[in-house]
Amino acid sequence: MNIHEYQAKELLRRYQVACQDGQVARTAPEAASIAESYGGRAVVKAQIHAGGRGKGGGVKFAKTPAEAAELWERMMGMTLVTKQTGPEGRVVRTVYVCNPLDIARELYLSFLVDRSTSRVTCLASTEGGMEIEEVAEKTPEKIVRVTIDPALGLTAHQARRIAFALGLEGEAFKKGVAFLQNLYRLFVEKDCSLVEINPLVLTEQGDVMALDAKMGFDDNGIFRHPDVAAFRDLNEEAPAEIEASKFNLNFIKLDGSIGCMVNGAGLAMATMDIIKHHGAEPANFLDVGGGATEEAVRNAFRIILQDPAVKGVLVNIFGGIMRCDIVASGVVNAAREIGIQVPVVVRLEGTNVEEGKRILAESGLNLIVANDFDDAARKIVAAVA
Ligand code: GDP
Ligand code: MG
Repeated sequence: MNIHEYQAKELLRRYQVACQDGQVARTAPEAASIAESYGGRAVVKAQIHAGGRGKGGGVKFAKTPAEAAELWERMMGMTLVTKQTGPEGRVVRTVYVCNPLDIARELYLSFLVDRSTSRVTCLASTEGGMEIEEVAEKTPEKIVRVTIDPALGLTAHQARRIAFALGLEGEAFKKGVAFLQNLYRLFVEKDCSLVEINPLVLTEQGDVMALDAKMGFDDNGIFRHPDVAAFRDLNEEAPAEIEASKFNLNFIKLDGSIGCMVNGAGLAMATMDIIKHHGAEPANFLDVGGGATEEAVRNAFRIILQDPAVKGVLVNIFGGIMRCDIVASGVVNAAREIGIQVPVVVRLEGTNVEEGKRILAESGLNLIVANDFDDAARKIVAAVA
């Protein structure tokens, strides 16, 4: 789960991580009065779960409170397109008004879970403000990577090494070390998967502060953090994914045309691979789980069919714990209830497969039954071509 910048900064403050002041403005006059409280000037920032807002027009400077109100009007409700949103963009529903900082240098700092070392890793660079992927490509020597031993945590020695690599000196060096240690504590205590401060700034006054903050959390740990769960913004999630999460279905929307209903993540991956192998693209990843009920199958089928991008559906089930006849009934009932306008290929294997096939055959519905995995993929790809 991801959260907005203003929420991330709220968490940073709770952990004594220095960051730029800011407040959410619910109305244009409120934006003006917040700017007023900062001495008249303000940075007005669109809140969406995507970066690159600056270049897309989602970060603007106001020189007067009236300008802050004007920017609020312009930003609120706009569809913001950035490098990270995709061409469809995101609607801005929250506008954040910040106290402008006088920046001496823009730095980069992040903590993330590195799968290759199975450890939390800190990335730091003197090249802040731009995308780290770009820095990694053009000047990889400017990125410092520090791997953290979970038993020791971020050691004082490591924190100093990172602050030094960031070119911090004197008081700013000490502030940088404290910043790193508090941020690491937040990362671990809140089960984060990513915390990215880009830019981390050294101000003209010698302070070290987070000017932007991106945070992601491990979904499996959210239940331990009601304060983080409260930050969930359903507007930022695909509607079908929200609907699926109500029924404990693992669903991820993708860009292709073939809807997939599969049980087990491994089979779901293999199904996506074989669809691609035969020249088409999956429209989603949907794992109904090992012991799904008929109701879960019905809901899964309904959610897939609601997507207008779906030109055909492949049901690929291996009945181990799950019985094929239950899957078949779920598919048949869902098809009757919703009506199917697109070709549906069903491949069943495993427990009660004969009974499952009989239910499909006797349903009177136009379902294409496949004999095996490869046959199923060929049939659905041919059907949508
Ligand atoms: P992003 O584009 O979505 O990553 O949004 P950021 O919050 O990182 O802002 C983008 C850029 O705007 C920063 O890298 C800064 O260069 C600039 N910026 C944002 N806030 C301030 C500020 O308070 N003072 C100054 N001088 N620049 C700012
Ligand atoms: Mg940024």
